[in-house]
Amino acid sequence: MVKIGIDPGHGGNDPGAIAANGLQEKEVNLAVALRLEKLLRNSGYSVFMSRNDDRAISLVERAAYFNREQVDLVISLHVNSADTATAEYICTFLLAPGGEAELIARSIQSQLVEITGWPDGGVRTANFYILRATKAPAVLVEMGFISNEDTASLLATESIQYSLAWAIYRGLGNYLDFTPIDYQGHWAQNAIQQALDSGFMSGYPDGTFRPDQAATRAELAAVLIKLWSQLKVNA
Ligand SMILES: [Zn+2]
Repeated sequence: MVKIGIDPGHGGNDPGAIAANGLQEKEVNLAVALRLEKLLRNSGYSVFMSRNDDRAISLVERAAYFNREQVDLVISLHVNSADTATAEYICTFLLAPGGEAELIARSIQSQLVEITGWPDGGVRTANFYILRATKAPAVLVEMGFISNEDTASLLATESIQYSLAWAIYRGLGNYLDFTPIDYQGHWAQNAIQQALDSGFMSGYPDGTFRPDQAATRAELAAVLIKLWSQLKVNA
């Protein structure tokens, strides 16, 4: 079974970059990581998290953990920051071109750009510690710029956190050759499948269903009316 290492950057007394609105990079990294973990676990993968709460873990410990657990690939999650508030793009880093890491990076990056619609910063190389110290192929995603005000307000929302996790999951799906379904393994999977098949409910345009997202009154009304017209047809 494929073992996947997820590394939410920073944590504890190391907040990472901080936005003008007070949002801390470590919070975004963890929120996306936890969503990604769930999606992958529901698809049957074993997931190894370098942290799953707000604590400080050194880079050396993180790499050692992944090497000890002999994971097959590592995804490190960060948010970029720049001196200019206008910088905004999403990009994926690897240590050096070629090999599995580049395939993973390209697969993830294309989904990130497609799903977020953010400017494409491309696949880049960098001599980051986590990339060179892990034995498994590793990539590091910089999920936009926290120094950009618009991006920072978006990054604070569950919606974009979910989209980022979904994009990385879909990218991994293309690389590992599985079909990405975000309600797979959910306790209500069968009910969701029937609701979709019957046309009573539909997913989001990006292919997600977001099973744990609360429904609005408008969405409830739409479902009830579909049900009502069906009952009238059958009456
Ligand atoms: Zn960072």
